[in-house]
Amino acid sequence: APVHLRAVLEGSRGQEGATALVYGEERMSHADYFRSAAAFARRLADDYGVAKGDRVAIAMRNYPEWVIAFFAAAGIGAIVVPLNSWWTGGELEFGLTDSGAKVLVADAERIERLAGAPQRLGIAVVAVRTPGPLPAGTRAWPDVLGEVPGDAALPEADLAPDDPATIFYTSGTTGVPKGALGSHRNMIANIMASSYARHRAIMRLGLELPEAQEFLGALPPPVILCVVPLFHATGAQTVMLPALATGGTLVLMYRWDAEAALRAVQRERVTAITAVPAMISQLLAAPRLADHDLSSLLVLSSGGAPAAPALVRRARGRLHELLLAQGYGMTECSATATVNGGSDYLLRPDSAGVPVATVDVKVVDPAGAELPPGEVGEVWIRGPGVVLGYWGRPEATAETFTDGWLHTGDLGRIDEEGFVYIVDRAKDMIIRGGENVYCAEVEAAIHEHPAVGEVAVVGVPHEVWGEEVGAVVRPLPGHRLEEADLRDHLDGRLASFKIPAHIRIAGHDLPRNAAGKLLKKRVKEEQGWDA
Ligand code: AMP
Ligand code: MG
Repeated sequence: APVHLRAVLEGSRGQEGATALVYGEERMSHADYFRSAAAFARRLADDYGVAKGDRVAIAMRNYPEWVIAFFAAAGIGAIVVPLNSWWTGGELEFGLTDSGAKVLVADAERIERLAGAPQRLGIAVVAVRTPGPLPAGTRAWPDVLGEVPGDAALPEADLAPDDPATIFYTSGTTGVPKGALGSHRNMIANIMASSYARHRAIMRLGLELPEAQEFLGALPPPVILCVVPLFHATGAQTVMLPALATGGTLVLMYRWDAEAALRAVQRERVTAITAVPAMISQLLAAPRLADHDLSSLLVLSSGGAPAAPALVRRARGRLHELLLAQGYGMTECSATATVNGGSDYLLRPDSAGVPVATVDVKVVDPAGAELPPGEVGEVWIRGPGVVLGYWGRPEATAETFTDGWLHTGDLGRIDEEGFVYIVDRAKDMIIRGGENVYCAEVEAAIHEHPAVGEVAVVGVPHEVWGEEVGAVVRPLPGHRLEEADLRDHLDGRLASFKIPAHIRIAGHDLPRNAAGKLLKKRVKEEQGWDA
C-alpha cells in the first residue's frame, strides 16, 4: 500500500458498517467520514486554491471536524498545521504567520481570540461550530462543505512518502516555538509503532504465543478514547491516526474529565486509552472507578511526561495492572520511540521501555560518542518517524539532527537488556500535565516587565501535574515589584498553562556560577522546590 495519509483515508471509503468517529451523541461511519473529508478536500482545492505543499492550519477543540479537516488537507498533499488551542491570540497569530497558512479551520473561541488577525494576514477562515454572524473572509463549515454527495471522491493529488504532511509546533530552547515538519512516511511509521505497541502490550498479558495469536486474530478493531488534545503529536499520531487507520473508532471528548472518561469506556466499549500520566493517576483515583464496566479495556498507556513508578503500584487492586503501558518519544520523532508494557512494566516501572521495532536509541556523551550500557548521557533517536527538520529553521535543524539521529535533550541510560531509562532533562523545559513549557519563553515574557532585573523559571514538583511553573524574580535596583504586577503583565501575553503558578520576589541576586550562569538547581533548593 502507498505510504501516505491519502491511502489511510481511502481505506475508510465505503466502510458503511464501521464507526469512525464518536463525539457525545454524534456518530459517523468510516464511509461518512471519508465522504466528508473528500468533499472538504474538494472545497479546499476548488474554493480556496489549496494545492500540494500549501499550509492549512487547524485551531479548535477536539471536534470531529478537526479529524475531517486534517485528512482532507493531508489527502490532497497540503501540509496540516495543528495549532495549540490553549494559545493566546498572539501565539495563534505567530503559528499562522510562521507556517504561512493559506486557510485556517477554527472554532468560535479561537476565532474570537484571534480578533481579526487572519483577515489582516489575508488568511481565509472556515468557522466550525460558530453560531451568529461571522467576520469578513469567514465562512461557516456547513456552507463550505455544502451537500456531501454519496459518491464523493478525493481530488487528484500525486503524493510521495517523503512529502511533508504536518507541522506540529514544539517550543524551542530559544523561547520561540518551532514547527516540526513531518512527512507522510513519519505519520505512517508512528501508526505502525503505536499499533504494534498496543499489540505488544496485549501479547505481554502473559499469554503463550499460540494463545496470543488467536487472541489478537479475534480482536475487533480498536475503540480508542482520545482524552488528549489532537494538536499534539500524542493525540494526532498515537491516538487519532492508529484508530482510523486500523478501521477502528475514535471517541472524542470536549475536555478531560475522569468520570466522563469512565462512562465513555463503558458506553462505547473502549479498548485503549492513551493519556498523560496525570490523567492516568486521576483515572486510577476516580472514586467511582469500580462502578464502571471497564472489561473492554485492553491497554491504558501513558506518555508525554515521566510516569511515576508509583502509578503501577497504585493500579494494584484498582485495575488489572497488566493493562498499563508507558511510551516515550517526542514531537520530533513523530511520537513513539520506546514502549514499556505488561509484565515488563510491572518488573521495571521506572523504565520507558524498549525501542519500537523500527527505532534505534542510543545514549551519547557530549561529543556524540555512544556510551556503554548503564552510563547516563543524552538520548538520541533514529528511525522512520524522525521528522524532516524544523520548518524554515535550517540552523535549529542542523543543531538537533545529525545523520538521521534526533538529539532529544533528554538524559537517560540503557541497561544490558536494552531497557531505556529517562533520568532527567538537559533542556530547560517543564512539563505541566502534558503541556511543555519552555523556561526561556516564560523568562523572556517576564523580562519584558520594566522593573525586572533577573528571573529564573523552574519546575516545581506537583502531585497531579508532575510539575508546575515557578518563577523567582529579582527586581531592578530601586524598583518595586509585586506578584500582582507580574500577573497583570503576563495575562494575555502567555497561554495560561505557561503562567507561573508560583511567583517569588527575591530579596537578593539569583545564584550564579563563576561564569555567570544561573544555577537553577540552587534556585529550586532555596525556594524549597526541590522535592
Ligand atoms: P513533546 O515534544 O511534547 O512530545 O515532548 C517530548 C518530551 O517529553 C521528551 O523529550 C521528554 O522530555 C518528555 N517525555 C515524553 N515521554 C516521556 C516519558 N515516558 N518519560 C519521561 N519523559 C518523557
Ligand atoms: Mg508533550
